Amino acid sequence: SLAGKSAIVTGSTSGIGLAIATALAKEGVDVMLNGLGDAAEIEATRAKLASQTGRTILFSPANMMKPDEITGMVREAEAKFGKVDIVVSNAGIQHVSPVEDFPTEKWDAIMAINLTASFHLTKAVVPGMKARKHGRIVNIASAHSLVASPFKSAYVAAKHGLLGFTKTIALELATFGITANCISPGYVWTPLVEKQIPDTMKARNMTKEQVMNDVLLAAQPTKQFVQVEEVAALALWLCSDAAKNITGANNVIDGGWTAA
Ligand code: NAD
Repeated sequence: SLAGKSAIVTGSTSGIGLAIATALAKEGVDVMLNGLGDAAEIEATRAKLASQTGRTILFSPANMMKPDEITGMVREAEAKFGKVDIVVSNAGIQHVSPVEDFPTEKWDAIMAINLTASFHLTKAVVPGMKARKHGRIVNIASAHSLVASPFKSAYVAAKHGLLGFTKTIALELATFGITANCISPGYVWTPLVEKQIPDTMKARNMTKEQVMNDVLLAAQPTKQFVQVEEVAALALWLCSDAAKNITGANNVIDGGWTAA
């Protein structure tokens, strides 16, 4: 059990992040949620998780594009929880477009949210983790940290970068009881995947069924979407004591995609 620990999970108002936050809280972890979305819906999610688990569940609206807000979120969690043992850098966005039409502001946003936010988060939490000689840094990368798909230039570049960043900090932090790892899912059924279907239909001139079977699940030998609860179980494992010698690793959960 992870009772007595505290965590920040970015992008936890939806999808994989919410599943990880839920799994941590069920293991006895106090959690700071984060993300964008409707304030009333987020408050309902927060209150439900708190009452389900009896843990302290907080919410920070910090925008992962804004370094000061990321640092502020960490300082708030440290003040309210007394420490931050676990950070899961999960917030992420996607944009699908041929490179010559790729909007520059989308490239910049994907780099900021999917890559640079993890740097700011790490920079802010590491002093406290080093002082306590304990920490778990989990970065949600992707199968796209290892392989590419056309029309996802920014996302693939950011996720490859996130893996490189994670390996580097794992080396720097190895003697301080702090592990840093990536989780690299294949296709997980979440709003992020659902929302990219229309653009992929346009970019590849396909129907919705063709995109689901010939593009998304074509890459995944199991022919199944990964479920968010499976990703959350892997994150819990990496946060456990048993995983203290797993660091700098890219933990793939992709139905065999990157084996091919
Ligand atoms: P999602 O769209 O369901 O959730 C994304 C979360 O990030 C939401 O809570 C959203 O509010 C938050 N977010 C977005 N922009 C933000 C910002 N500027 N500041 C703060 N929060 C912000 O997506 P998901 O599928 O659950 O994806 C979560 C992570 O998993 C992402 O990093 C994604 O790249 C990665 N991933 C997803 C899949 C998949 O198939 N779904 C596969 C591999 C990797």
